Amino acid sequence: MPIVNDVPAATRSAGDLEELDRRVLLHPHQSGARNERCVVVRGSGCTVWDAHGTELLDVMGGGNWVAQVGHGRTELADAAARQLGRLEYFTGFDIFSNDQSLELAERLVRRAPDGLDRVFFTNGGSEAVESAIKFARLFHHHRGQPDRTWILSRHYAYHGSTYGSGTATGIPGMHAGIGLGLPHVEKVSPPYPYRAAELYGGAETTDFLLRELAETIDRIGPGNIAAMIGEPVMGGAGILVPPADYWPRVRELLTRHGILLIADEVVTAFGRTGAWFDSAARGMAADLVVIAKGLTSGYAPLGAVLLRDDIGETVAGGGNYLFHGHTYSGHPTACAIALANLDLLEREELVARAGTIGQWFRAALAPLSGLPQVGEVRVAGATVGVELVTDQDSRTPLMAGAVATELRHAHRVVARDYGNTLVMAPPLVITEEQVGRAAAALVDVVARLDADGT
Ligand code: PLP
Repeated sequence: MPIVNDVPAATRSAGDLEELDRRVLLHPHQSGARNERCVVVRGSGCTVWDAHGTELLDVMGGGNWVAQVGHGRTELADAAARQLGRLEYFTGFDIFSNDQSLELAERLVRRAPDGLDRVFFTNGGSEAVESAIKFARLFHHHRGQPDRTWILSRHYAYHGSTYGSGTATGIPGMHAGIGLGLPHVEKVSPPYPYRAAELYGGAETTDFLLRELAETIDRIGPGNIAAMIGEPVMGGAGILVPPADYWPRVRELLTRHGILLIADEVVTAFGRTGAWFDSAARGMAADLVVIAKGLTSGYAPLGAVLLRDDIGETVAGGGNYLFHGHTYSGHPTACAIALANLDLLEREELVARAGTIGQWFRAALAPLSGLPQVGEVRVAGATVGVELVTDQDSRTPLMAGAVATELRHAHRVVARDYGNTLVMAPPLVITEEQVGRAAAALVDVVARLDADGT
């Protein structure tokens, strides 16, 4: 795996950088109570180094479910340099495009679930979700059903942090203090088999969820609903894997009512959960699919919406003007990087490798099953969620923040806490030895947990 090694040291001392950080930077999703800073300056494979020169094992894909092909890949650096020397940027507005965005669009359509033949590029996931919501509403509007404005989403979902995607997000903290969100968004329950007893009152998971969805559609009125949005596997909610019959039955119900289905594959696509597109593997048959993150493995910001041909034609063809877009939609350098990234995913068979990584994790995390604080271990492809509880009977959530911090401090392992679930989503080039190291570190930290999660 060729990697970039000849990088200069960071621009100034670690202490200066950390002080600068505290003084000038607002971090996305930052806890104001935390003083600690970690300034990352270099990466190679699954390893990154902070400004102190400390080596960290990145089992979170660049800390954010992103770095499918690993850090420091010369293939992507070269692709970026080549494109920057040729054409760094030109607009994609109106009649303009560029060869890289066209090559990438064609490549995505070839890989996409059946029937998704159109592509709209964005800068990342939130914008792509935002765009998909607009496209769904516009589609019905142009088809003579302007009342179809409602969007159905799910509690605990994460769809982004702009106003529209943030409103679709089912995390109450995201909505506090910012005034009104997007109107006409309604949430239903997520599939969460581990908590079926408390959430579904003893009913079978899919039966309960379908009944609730049908009642919600009835209450709002099918003729008022544009689309439902959902992650095939809910990542930020703690790797919630639905029962096999959930998506096919949801799809069937939505189709019956003319409601579109938007699959948010910002996390799951490109091998993260073991398939190129997880929505296809789980029977969603989505009308629109939203992607970002693994599309470039984080080497450039890029997202996209994949659409059914007739939806694309309706919102942007037939004499309609599409009043929507971003300066950097179809950015040639980002698209060139994405093409090189797809080359690597294919050449190194990383999507199939995700399943193997999941098996390594299952085996290496087996000792967790004997620990009283481990409620459930969930594995989907190369993604792991370990749900922590105070005890097996009450299943009271035990927050995972202290575990993530201790993993970093004691073992130099970067994972992430999502509420009471500790998540690992490593680059798909991770070795069995590195999986073993990360798993052993997690077993050690969880085994040392006190009852209050510290
Ligand atoms: N959708 C999902 C499922 C995500 O996990 C994320 C980000 O983590 C987003 C959308 C938003 O993407 P971005 O942060 O690129 O705007």
